Amino acid sequence: MAARQLYLIRLGEICLKGENRSFFEKKLRTNITYKLKGLHPAFRIQKGRFFLEVDDIEGSEARTEAALSTTSGLVAFSKTLKTEKDIEAIKEAVIALTGPYFSKNPQSFKVNARRSDKSFPLSSYEISCETGGIILDTFPQCRVDVHTPEISIYIEIRDKAYIYSSSNMIKGPGGLPVGIAGKGLLLLSGGIDSPVAGYRMATRGLRQDAIYFHTYPYTSDEALQKVKDLARIIAPYLSGLTLYVVPFTKAQLHINANSDNSEHTLLMRYCMVKIANMVADTVHAKTLVTGESLSQVASQTLESITFTDSASAIPVLRPLIGLDKEDIITTAREIGTFETSILPFEDCCTVFSPKHPKVRPDKQAMTDSYESLKIEGLLEEAAKGCEVIDLRF
Ligand code: ATP
Ligand code: MG
Repeated sequence: MAARQLYLIRLGEICLKGENRSFFEKKLRTNITYKLKGLHPAFRIQKGRFFLEVDDIEGSEARTEAALSTTSGLVAFSKTLKTEKDIEAIKEAVIALTGPYFSKNPQSFKVNARRSDKSFPLSSYEISCETGGIILDTFPQCRVDVHTPEISIYIEIRDKAYIYSSSNMIKGPGGLPVGIAGKGLLLLSGGIDSPVAGYRMATRGLRQDAIYFHTYPYTSDEALQKVKDLARIIAPYLSGLTLYVVPFTKAQLHINANSDNSEHTLLMRYCMVKIANMVADTVHAKTLVTGESLSQVASQTLESITFTDSASAIPVLRPLIGLDKEDIITTAREIGTFETSILPFEDCCTVFSPKHPKVRPDKQAMTDSYESLKIEGLLEEAAKGCEVIDLRF
């Protein structure tokens, strides 16, 4: 049997869930298991702590770290060493675990030892002194600080000795596990906002598929490739997704030919929401998700949103509605979508946007404009003609 690696996982909000906690934990375990297929992941809950064990083979550490750092429901995790209950073995493990960090960052530290197995010959205090001593001997620039240490090292003596340290702690997205909140359909464009919106809703437990409206040849193959790349980047956070690419050109041209220029963007967005509802129905998504943020552009004023909302039979979630662009960009950088989002290939909103769009549209007048388009047939055709890109795990 392959040697095993051990990780301690810290759960955040899940811990606050009384009766639902075990359901939430089960979802988290399923999501992690899918990502770590082949490494034989196994979970153990011991004294309220959540441990993950995986095969210790080449590349497994990088793979596990990539998987856990993108799994919502998980606040942080740290590699944990397990040794025999022998003080020399424990000291060796402490140095193996913290050495790579302390050799670069000689900081203040504290050892927190806990002994559930009272037959262990040293007291908690003695374990802390012994292991603290070996750190000071090995890294003389480190110092002990029991009140406000920069690094905390934990040693727990149970069936074995378990050692972990805040120097090895890596953050996860926090929030709740994907899948506990049902399924939504993300309107994914090539911009900065919508990938962040998808990420945000994933951390609230929403599983999502994505839909992109492609207006070839007015929007290029590169624009589509950009959306595919973005979908791939956010896939780990979403625990996998399917991307639906809608052939939107006929509908778009019909709108342009049969309505006033100032209404093009709003009618286009209304039609997008209509098609998204059709696709949501076939993929059993119960909500739409968009990257809209109030007042960001003409189509995102309260009046515009009131109109586009009226196209939807299901709720439209807009997690970025109250965020400013800087906050959105910060998250885009953190999740790794920013550099792709700013590539220059434009999507249809930009290509067809009128010089003077309506900013405060009248809902009834817009609804009348939509009715006069007689476009339902084209929208149904577009919804049925989706290219399907499978990015599930
Ligand atoms: P983003 O940065 O996400 O592209 P944006 O600031 O460019 O947003 P809009 O172009 O008005 O704003 O789009 C608002 C939202 O509508 C987007 O966040 C996205 O959810 C959706 N959307 C816009 N264009 C498309 C498209 N071609 N395909 C799918 N969804 C789209
Ligand atoms: Mg856009």
